[in-house]
Amino acid sequence: MLMNSGGRIMSAAEYKESLRRYQPRVFVNGQVVASVADEPQFEPGIRAVGVTYDFAQRPEYGGLMLAEQATSGATVNRMLHINRDTDDLLSKLEAVRLLCRETGCAQRYLTHDALNAIYQSTWAMDQDASNAEYHPRFLEYLHRVQQEDLTLGVAMTDAKGDRSKRPHQQSERNSYVHIKERRSDGVVLSGTKAIVTGGPYMHELLVMPCRTMTEADEDFAVCCAVPIDAEGLTIVARPAGRPGDEEAKFSAKYGQSTAVCHFADVLVPWERVFMAGEWQHTEHLVTSYANHHRHSCIGARAGFGDLLIGAGALMSESNGLDMDKVPHLRDAMVDLIKITESFFACGVAASVYGVTDPCGSLMPEPVFSNIGKLLLATKIYDMHRAAHEVSGGLIVALPGPDEDHNPETAGDLAAVLGGRSDIPYAQRMEVSRFIGDLTASSTGGWYSVISLHGGGSPAAMKREIFRRYPVEERQALVERLLDRGVADTGESGAPPRQRQPGQCCDTGCTVPGEIKSD
Ligand SMILES: Cc1cc2nc3c(=O)[nH]c(=O)nc-3n(C[C@H](O)[C@H](O)[C@H](O)COP(=O)(O)OP(=O)(O)OC[C@H]3O[C@@H](n4cnc5c(N)ncnc54)[C@H](O)[C@@H]3O)c2cc1C
Repeated sequence: MLMNSGGRIMSAAEYKESLRRYQPRVFVNGQVVASVADEPQFEPGIRAVGVTYDFAQRPEYGGLMLAEQATSGATVNRMLHINRDTDDLLSKLEAVRLLCRETGCAQRYLTHDALNAIYQSTWAMDQDASNAEYHPRFLEYLHRVQQEDLTLGVAMTDAKGDRSKRPHQQSERNSYVHIKERRSDGVVLSGTKAIVTGGPYMHELLVMPCRTMTEADEDFAVCCAVPIDAEGLTIVARPAGRPGDEEAKFSAKYGQSTAVCHFADVLVPWERVFMAGEWQHTEHLVTSYANHHRHSCIGARAGFGDLLIGAGALMSESNGLDMDKVPHLRDAMVDLIKITESFFACGVAASVYGVTDPCGSLMPEPVFSNIGKLLLATKIYDMHRAAHEVSGGLIVALPGPDEDHNPETAGDLAAVLGGRSDIPYAQRMEVSRFIGDLTASSTGGWYSVISLHGGGSPAAMKREIFRRYPVEERQALVERLLDRGVADTGESGAPPRQRQPGQCCDTGCTVPGEIKSD
């Protein structure tokens, strides 16, 4: 175990062991789970999160995976660090790529993104309040999380019910997590968070609002930390990846569970509450989280791109084709590289042009961050296409693993399904199954959908890009070039400029195409 000042940096084995301290109420495939740490259905997820711990112990990754927390001086895992400068943002981006080229999805960057957003919003809330309690309270919590090297799930996306209605208008109040009761010792939560990556094998959940709230939604404006085994919390999870499936060359080893988290009268003590009704601050919290998270998604999917590029090249090679000499295969590979590195470049730009929050921490520049996430969200399907193009149909058509050791067929198959003569059939088969798993199985679908919707659907990114981009400045530039007089707002007869939707105020804006629900 590595020690930091007063704390520790756990290894993967210690992280897995630490899960035994908790007794959460978890179901998977219709069965109750006796021990999360020993449940085979979660093993690929626990192993993937474990990589975030083990990599922090490797001296060669120290600069990326470790950081010094400014408010305590402690050395902490990068996934628990509050960003202060450009190097922090670049290191986080590269660290997430490193973790995800190994694991596909390592979950823990969500912890990072939520901690950074709550750090900013608690500080902002305290500027408005007569008794500034939230930020010091959160700092204390943050330092404990860092000291104990915890992993926190993000419980943000509510079940939401009828999407055309606001939380308070829902016929089923529990479709959004809300404060049911305020007591002297804390708040009582009720409601449902619909999609929580890694739910069962988190130490705690960070509950956050998933949208901007209005005054009528005050009870739904809640942010707090809940231990995974809090009384009243039930977690209904899917398996992590494809555990035990021999054909799943990647996702039998690494994958993530997603979970529905149902809160039934969960008491959260005040020292763990970071927002309780301050609906005016939900916009800041939600967009700050989205900004950090979209930046992380860029690193994550660039890691996925690395896997497809490597596997596609190996598949061509075992097919006996040299990409250098076959132009259309080279083109497909260049497409894959172009897509991966273009959204990654947006992540680099968002880091380099990072924006200092009034609290002193650094945020990724939001336009580049949102463009990068929008690119990967829509181009993931082209990435799969390029991988399919170079690989051929075997990735979905190869006989299953049961035939690998069938004495009646195994020999024949190895002889006739080989590719290049000096590459063993077993190797060709492995890479074929690897690509099939990542792009054309339930895991492949999972990566498409997480790319498209994880961190917000494309409409949310488009809204942020349009809201933040200085269109008016560009308009003024052209007006000046056309010699119409930029500063002239009326006297010359020029029409006053319209403000972009979403830029006119902090809350309640109407986005083109969005259903207005109040
Ligand atoms: C694999 C995976 C892992 C995830 N992990 C997490 C996690 O760890 N934590 C977490 O909190 N969330 C997580 N998410 C959730 C993710 O953030 C959401 O999927 C995303 O925000 C979209 O919400 P939704 O799925 O409810 O879709 P919906 O909100 O139902 O959206 C569906 C479509 O309807 C449109 N739409 C919705 N409402 C309106 C409206 N009022 N007006 C007009 N159009 C509308 C959307 O733009 C979209 O095109 C995860 C998602 C996936 C797929």
